[in-house]
Amino acid sequence: MRRRATLRKPAILTRRLFSLTVRAVAITSMSFAVSFGFLSGAMSPQAHYDPYSFAIGVSALFGAACGAIGILMSRVRQMKTELRDLEARLEAAADRNWEIREAQERTKSFFEAQGDVIVRRDGAGAITYVNDAFCALAGRAREDLLATPFALPVEERGETHVLPDGTRVHDQKIAAPDGARWIAWRDVAVRADGGSETQSVGRDMTERVRAERALAEARDQAEAASRAKSRFLAMVSHEIRTPLNGILGMADLLGDTQLTPEQATYLKAMKTSGETLLSLIEEVLDFSKIEAGRLDLAARPFPLAALVEEAVELLGPRAQAKGLEIGCYVDERLPARVVGDAARLRQVLFNLAGNAVKFTERGGISIIVEPGAVPDAIAISVRDTGIGISPEDQARIFLDFEQADGGSTRKFGGTGLGLAISKRIIEGMGGALTVDSAPGEGATFHVSVALPRADGADEPALSPPDLAGNDVLIVAPAAIEASLIARRLQRWGARAKIVGDDQVAKSLLPEQLWSAVLIDHALGTPACAALARLAAAMPRRIVLVTPAMRNELAALKEAGFTGYLIKPVRAASLAARFSPNDRFDSAATAGIAAAPSESHAGGGLSILVAEDNEINALLARALLLKLGHRPTMAASGAAAIESWLAARAAGIPYDRVLMDLHMPGMDGLEATRRMRAIEAETDAPRTPILALTANASAEDRDACLAAGMDGFLVKPLDRERLAAALAAAGRAALAA
Ligand code: ADP
Repeated sequence: MRRRATLRKPAILTRRLFSLTVRAVAITSMSFAVSFGFLSGAMSPQAHYDPYSFAIGVSALFGAACGAIGILMSRVRQMKTELRDLEARLEAAADRNWEIREAQERTKSFFEAQGDVIVRRDGAGAITYVNDAFCALAGRAREDLLATPFALPVEERGETHVLPDGTRVHDQKIAAPDGARWIAWRDVAVRADGGSETQSVGRDMTERVRAERALAEARDQAEAASRAKSRFLAMVSHEIRTPLNGILGMADLLGDTQLTPEQATYLKAMKTSGETLLSLIEEVLDFSKIEAGRLDLAARPFPLAALVEEAVELLGPRAQAKGLEIGCYVDERLPARVVGDAARLRQVLFNLAGNAVKFTERGGISIIVEPGAVPDAIAISVRDTGIGISPEDQARIFLDFEQADGGSTRKFGGTGLGLAISKRIIEGMGGALTVDSAPGEGATFHVSVALPRADGADEPALSPPDLAGNDVLIVAPAAIEASLIARRLQRWGARAKIVGDDQVAKSLLPEQLWSAVLIDHALGTPACAALARLAAAMPRRIVLVTPAMRNELAALKEAGFTGYLIKPVRAASLAARFSPNDRFDSAATAGIAAAPSESHAGGGLSILVAEDNEINALLARALLLKLGHRPTMAASGAAAIESWLAARAAGIPYDRVLMDLHMPGMDGLEATRRMRAIEAETDAPRTPILALTANASAEDRDACLAAGMDGFLVKPLDRERLAAALAAAGRAALAA
């Protein structure tokens, strides 16, 4: 509006100038007429002509006329100035106009240069504006598009989203003249002269979509290749494992025959190499399974303290053979039973504690399990006094196939997979695995994981003795086990004192009445006996021995000990030593593992073995014969059913069936299902069936139980586990 007013000014001025000129002419003419009239009148013969008055009058008139002319001229000058001013403003307005047009052009070329496709449509869908990119995409001239309802040919549509500001976002695959293009549109409502319009701005995403699709395809291919690799690894490992199990089993059997010392050495080397190879294959297999995303973690209740103590006990002989101590402390504030995957947690503990034994030459290993910082969290630390790990290596050792340094690898062996697997397992459980270490100062691996309390796990794992007011003296040359025992005794209320030297102990013993004296047999039998004699007045004199020292027990009892504890010491055994009616001989029943040969009971069972692999069948047969059983072999599922039916018909049914899972024709699962179906139909007693497999995965286990099996035996078969499984299956069958 303002702009229009400014532009009208010159026209008004011109009109005013014109009227001023007309007025000036009129005034001049009138002045002239008046002067003329006045002069004519004055000069008339009738008038009394007075030349003076006449001159005065003429001058006055002339003066008035000049004044009027002067005023008019100054007005004209003023008008000219205004005119010049107006011309300047007019020029400025023209400049501004030009600038605006320039800016419009720039904006337009900017839009075009963007490469985005722009189209505007009115309320009826007719095109009101298109840019060059749209024309190119449509393959038509602008004139052919404007005012038409033209729509681009769509081959595929993506999802449509509406943003909070009302913008509609959607993708379309357009069939353009030079091939299909993916356009990502943004539609917004804009105001226009004729009302509201829709402006669609489309960005060409073809290259990005192509790259994304190529990437997804490449990823799918890589995943498929990785799965194929894992399957191949699993298959090859399985195939290698089967004959290797045969070799190891045969080596075991050979070890039971009469051998010269030289032959025994060779056999031992053969077994060690075979076992190393087996554990290597198992690690690779496990890793490939986890890599293939098959880390299925179970969530079943299990006793936490027992799991940790078992792991420590299993590693005990290995540590003690190196002269190392190994012990554990499970805080009693933790629930007796927790929910989680016991097998995988045991695997992690075994790996960490196994490494600790491997990389420690002096001192020992302790596993401490305590409540974590948040509810349900459990903090496990595996500490050793070994070679330690440098900060640079700490960052690497959790990676696949990484070891601290090449030198140690050659010295200690291993694959560098143990920690990578452990880390994946713990992270799979939602926890974390970290390390604290310095070279030469040992290492502590920390596991923190949430394991919820199992239902009904409120009563404690063991009923701890009340040792308030008791003083206990622990005499042990090494500190690890002693400090773990002291810590537990203190939790039970006792005051515990540790001394590392028998001379110091001798001087301390007579100083007060100790409720109990615990003496480590590592001091040597004579020193232990001397201390036991000196402590004769104390109510409890307990000796700590390694399983290898069992044969010394009679002599130690003779020497005056009232009880013994086998290292690594279980909390339950320690508690039992402080029970009022504890005797030296009862120690064997207080959670201390009996010598393996004592544990298997029974014998003379009639056992059907379904196994297609000849070597494994030979091994199973030899082991069963050695255990005093009567094996019958079947090489397939069908043959096993036939033999089982025949034995029943003859009135001498098998006591147990050992069933290989993978057999040609009818596999072990199917054979078991059929046997169970026959038993159900005929109402016959149930024959305990144990699976024989090289795979101990949770799926296999579940499949076996679902098929009606009673237990599970993982190859390679060894005498102890075979005997224990046969006995357990018998008990389970009786209970059923
Ligand atoms: P492996 O023991 O088969 O080599 P791991 O993944 O279990 O594989 O361990 C990787 C490396 O971490 C080991 O080779 C060793 O160099 C280092 N390491 C692990 N545990 C310890 C430990 N307790 N003390 C010192 N070094 C360790």
